[in-house]
Amino acid sequence: MVTQDKKINELWELIKEVPDPEIPVLTLTDLGIVREITMSDEKVEVTITPTYTGCPAMKVFEEDITAKLNESGYKQVSIKTSLSPAWSTDWMSEEGKEKLMKYGISPPMGSSDKSVLTGIVKNVPCPQCKSTKTELVSQFGSTPCKALYQCSDCKEPFDYFKCI
Ligand SMILES: [Zn+2]
Repeated sequence: MVTQDKKINELWELIKEVPDPEIPVLTLTDLGIVREITMSDEKVEVTITPTYTGCPAMKVFEEDITAKLNESGYKQVSIKTSLSPAWSTDWMSEEGKEKLMKYGISPPMGSSDKSVLTGIVKNVPCPQCKSTKTELVSQFGSTPCKALYQCSDCKEPFDYFKCI
């Protein structure tokens, strides 16, 4: 089974390189959506948990993972979707959150529950000038996964990655 384990490690390494189709600075492992990789004979099965239900990016994730593994010689790849436990922004790596901020998107703050209840998050820091004097402009930013905010200091609009 040693070879098998080695292959699984290799598969994780390959998947780590697959970028998020929406936010290319993030990888799928930064997002924490890849749950499990198993292999039997030549068949690879990757279990992923979708970020936002109905997020159009999910189909792209699946295709990108399959393409990446096919490219590296794994021809039989199947993607399994696991909905439970549901993905939460808490699964995003710290490194991933830093990358988001540098990219100009304010990363999800703290835990999921509060924002789900209120729908509005206060004091989301501006990714440009770090000011927390910001206002919600729209619940939906460039994608349904994000909200649009505007900074009251530097006046820059920016996306906030919503907590779920
Ligand atoms: Zn600002």
